[in-house]
Amino acid sequence: MKTVIITGASRGIGAQTARLFAKNGYATIINYNKSEKDAFALKDELLAQGCCVDLFRADVSVYSECKAMADYVVKKYKRIDVLVNNAGISQIKPLFDVSQDDFDLVMSTNFKSVFNMCKVVSDYMVSQKSGKIINLSSVWGEVGASCESVYCASKAAVVGFTKALAKELGPSNINVNCVAPGFIQTDMNGCLSKDVVDEIIDETPLARVGNPQDVANAILFLADEKSGFITGQVLATSGGWQM
Ligand code: NAP
Repeated sequence: MKTVIITGASRGIGAQTARLFAKNGYATIINYNKSEKDAFALKDELLAQGCCVDLFRADVSVYSECKAMADYVVKKYKRIDVLVNNAGISQIKPLFDVSQDDFDLVMSTNFKSVFNMCKVVSDYMVSQKSGKIINLSSVWGEVGASCESVYCASKAAVVGFTKALAKELGPSNINVNCVAPGFIQTDMNGCLSKDVVDEIIDETPLARVGNPQDVANAILFLADEKSGFITGQVLATSGGWQM
């Protein structure tokens, strides 16, 4: 049985990705940080369907917690086949209002977490001589968004890191790719008004917002052998918004 670690899988895109992998026969490690109730509910939901799932609480911005999670998975499941770096937070503020702490929080949650997890997991993948790493960027990482400068920078950093790592780990038979969602309906966008959402739908060629399943499908594809010759790429799941 293949094993996948999905960071930030208590809610939103991560939770839907956990459902999809678990139903496709993966031993699925659901990482969460603060939303313990949601994570336990998801685990119970999937166990009731006969899936193999496990929970691990870790703040992925902290290296030692990432290391503990990877060690736990390898000890129990003997391998890590797929890593999905999904955990993230948004921040909408003009630069004038962004404090040093705001900057550190977004960069450590959205980017240092990817560095931490790749560092601890790639060790195992290199010795296995196989693995798939899928990092969540954003369309904003490529085109930028007003009042989201640090968020956009964190997601652009994920793209650069992914491409470099794809070159470094390719010879060890490890694929490293990004998924870059557009507007996906999750808690992260709960603060946006109906007018803003309607405007985004107007600007989207496929004329709707995305849902977590749209992104989960792309992540599963990048974890599959069918995408075995794809590495270092950014796959937008945006309905064509912000091409
Ligand atoms: P969400 O619904 O707000 O969920 C965020 C998830 O990240 C939660 O499960 C949360 O876990 C987890 N998380 C946050 N900080 C963490 C930490 N330090 N350690 C471990 N887990 C942490 O967000 P989403 O919309 O599903 O977004 C998922 C990813 O897609 C993010 O990287 C986001 O930037 C990216 N994305 C989203 C959109 C969109 O439109 N929604 C667009 C582009 C990119 P806890 O609650 O347990 O702490």
